[in-house]
Amino acid sequence: MKKAILFAFAPLLAACDMEPTTGAELDLRDREEATLQSAPLADPIVARGAFATEADRERFEADVLPSARAFLAYWAEGGLSVPHAPARLFISPPRGTSATEALPQLYGENIFDDLRALEAEVASAPSNRAAIERIDAFTCERPPLHRGFLEDVEEHADNPDVGPADIAQALRRKHEELLGPDGTFSFGTDNGEFELPLRRNCSYILLGHSTQPTRAHPYLERDVVNHELGHALHYGLWLASGPLGERLSTTANEAIADILAHVFDGDPCHGKVLDEGGTPVDCRRRMDVYEQSVSDAFWGFGRADHETGQSLRQLIWTLREEVPADALRVAVVDGIAAVQVALNQIDAEPLANVPIFDDEILATRYRFVREYEAASAFFHAVCARLGDAPPACGEHAQRIGDPRLAMREAWLANAPTSIGRSGVTLADGRRVAFELEGALIRQMTVTLADGEQRSYPGDPDLGFPEAERESTSGRITLWFPEPGSTAPDAKVGWTSDGELIAR
Ligand SMILES: [Zn+2]
Repeated sequence: MKKAILFAFAPLLAACDMEPTTGAELDLRDREEATLQSAPLADPIVARGAFATEADRERFEADVLPSARAFLAYWAEGGLSVPHAPARLFISPPRGTSATEALPQLYGENIFDDLRALEAEVASAPSNRAAIERIDAFTCERPPLHRGFLEDVEEHADNPDVGPADIAQALRRKHEELLGPDGTFSFGTDNGEFELPLRRNCSYILLGHSTQPTRAHPYLERDVVNHELGHALHYGLWLASGPLGERLSTTANEAIADILAHVFDGDPCHGKVLDEGGTPVDCRRRMDVYEQSVSDAFWGFGRADHETGQSLRQLIWTLREEVPADALRVAVVDGIAAVQVALNQIDAEPLANVPIFDDEILATRYRFVREYEAASAFFHAVCARLGDAPPACGEHAQRIGDPRLAMREAWLANAPTSIGRSGVTLADGRRVAFELEGALIRQMTVTLADGEQRSYPGDPDLGFPEAERESTSGRITLWFPEPGSTAPDAKVGWTSDGELIAR
């Protein structure tokens, strides 16, 4: 499979550097053997594109690809590499390009036979799962062809009324449409995208074609391409260190991808905004400014985004002035590694990976904690590596924020809950409600059918009751101490399936 991929995606620029041969004293036969044994250095990037114009292709090859190769070489010295090397780039044709024109340029002249062969393989697959795996492998080799179709089929994988023959039929219809007179093919409009499919047996980068006059085609923006390669590099490190959780930090991912791209190119401006004449007049993001801590930015957006890690970008930009480039490169790689450790610790917490009580408060808390801890871990690891603390490293509170403060101020506004204030009435007439103070769960109140109320305070230091997760059932219980009980460990618990229990 790997070999097939390498053949199918021969580099656009056939620049295979040979290993230098130093054996001047070898006779001819030895020399031939030496040449055979020393494989050519593989190109770190292979690219396939359906470019709109020949000039676009030339600019991509002359300008963007060399920058991308130099980018990978720069970070390779810090120990970073892409998963599933070589990095694969796919460049979209303009929106509306006919599929019969685009597909051979992207996936080779045999693509139409390949589509027929896929139909046959899916039709004869022994199970839906086997059919899905076949389509998945096809998409891995020719991304993003059939990526959406694959998602649709996944939804029906366990439906007893659907079999491989039905999937094959749907696939045939899809192909007829795609290759018919109105069939078009393009992807990633106005953007770049690094994709690591859930099964994680391949990865690739999609580079779209711009539809707006205010931005260049993403495949012609060196920093956009390097940003996507940056995603490949941080995933490369995490996958090699494993395990990689499914829930990651958008704040850390996006800041890191920009940091890798712009520490390399030295330009603080990410993604040029163009005027009508095509002259750069602004930046879509900047490395050298930040206004809010990660905490404030998260609560301001109500979620994590490209913007929530500005203080991390600006931290690294400031450190460029304060420490040597080689030291900063090593520190950034340390920072990336620390993010994975922090996220894995959160994943190990009992409430981290389950929908709890359908309770948006708790879900948001964990989303927030994830972003906060990942950003904080990056900050601490970078600064720890730099030793004699540069001034910017003394600014954890300003740059990352105080999670409890931020939560107190913004929790309710961002995460209304059905359980929190309104409470839930049980079948026996008791009513359970939580008393919230800003972000924190202060106490649980149980109102009996006769109106009598009992209050169960949470832990005042944690701002959160003790949480317990049963590993087999996945049931979660929030435990509150029973006030005034003679047994010191007596507790009352509220379970994720809506029961009030005691221990
Ligand atoms: Zn990104």
